[in-house]
Amino acid sequence: MIPAAFDYQRSATLDDALKAIADGGGTVKLLAGGQSLLPLLKLRLGSADRLVDIGRLGELKGVRRLPDGRLAIGAMTTYSELAASSARHYGVVADALPTIGDVQVRNRGTVGGAVAHADPASDLAACFLALDAEIVARSVRGERTIPVDGFFTGPFSTALATDELITEVRLPGPRDDAGSAYASLEQPASGYAMVGAAVVVFVAGDGSIEGANVALTGVGPHPYRARAVEAALAGSDRSAASLAAAAAHATDGIDVVGDIHAGREYRTAMAAVYTRRAIEAALARLG
Ligand SMILES: Cc1cc2nc3c(=O)[nH]c(=O)nc-3n(C[C@H](O)[C@H](O)[C@H](O)COP(=O)(O)OP(=O)(O)OC[C@H]3O[C@@H](n4cnc5c(N)ncnc54)[C@H](O)[C@@H]3O)c2cc1C
Repeated sequence: MIPAAFDYQRSATLDDALKAIADGGGTVKLLAGGQSLLPLLKLRLGSADRLVDIGRLGELKGVRRLPDGRLAIGAMTTYSELAASSARHYGVVADALPTIGDVQVRNRGTVGGAVAHADPASDLAACFLALDAEIVARSVRGERTIPVDGFFTGPFSTALATDELITEVRLPGPRDDAGSAYASLEQPASGYAMVGAAVVVFVAGDGSIEGANVALTGVGPHPYRARAVEAALAGSDRSAASLAAAAAHATDGIDVVGDIHAGREYRTAMAAVYTRRAIEAALARLG
């Protein structure tokens, strides 16, 4: 399909890009890796008067360690670059990245684009929720930091204002008492998660589970934190029965999606299975 006509502008500086989206009033869209935006335009499911290409903004690329130990991931860092960076030491990220699309998607798709696009089945969104990441957004009005929990507000919608650009995603520093993992049931053709579970578990000195962050994707209208699973895991032992009982709460309070790939009942059942597997894998990483 041929998209409707649009203007194209390549930004030379971040300020240029911010000014363009501020002046555009929602009719100007940022072009990052184009992996979601271009198909949407071609299928005419979306439109834009102008695309502002941020692909050459070097300051949005790369992964760096902040002085306090946190990891800052530039918005224009591709999935492939992320896999080669120190972010690969987060088990949950290392597990999820190879499951995303194919080589082409991973070479072009960016972290900022994935977060801003807010696909209800985004793998990275679940990882960032489980890791308690922060999203840094900039506009001509200034900069703000948004906790990822609450950032995803619905299918393809976020807490970003139309004039805001994501500059980076920050992950908390690694902890010796934390293990993490991602487990997903993929739609075989696209690689999209029909169910994806991202888990970070925190373990006490006696080996019991002190707490956990559990996030699911592909299951509800947007990626979400499964609070009931987290509550059931806190203080729990590591027996198979306890983990399965906690994972059974994976869809509590969620309007589970049903589609041609997986009906509502099947997805609900698989959410519990893959949540349990991710918890087990996260614990196994702690030995
Ligand atoms: C064949 C195929 C298979 C895929 N499989 C998977 C999969 O298995 N799992 C998965 O999670 N995803 C999958 N995807 C989706 C892919 O991961 C995302 O499309 C991609 O990461 C989006 O990043 P991008 O850089 O390409 O964004 P773009 O397509 O360039 O932009 C997407 C949206 O985000 C906005 N945007 C981009 N960057 C910023 C920014 N810095 N600040 C604010 N707004 C911004 C754009 O304006 C646009 O609205 C697949 C895509 C394809 C084409």
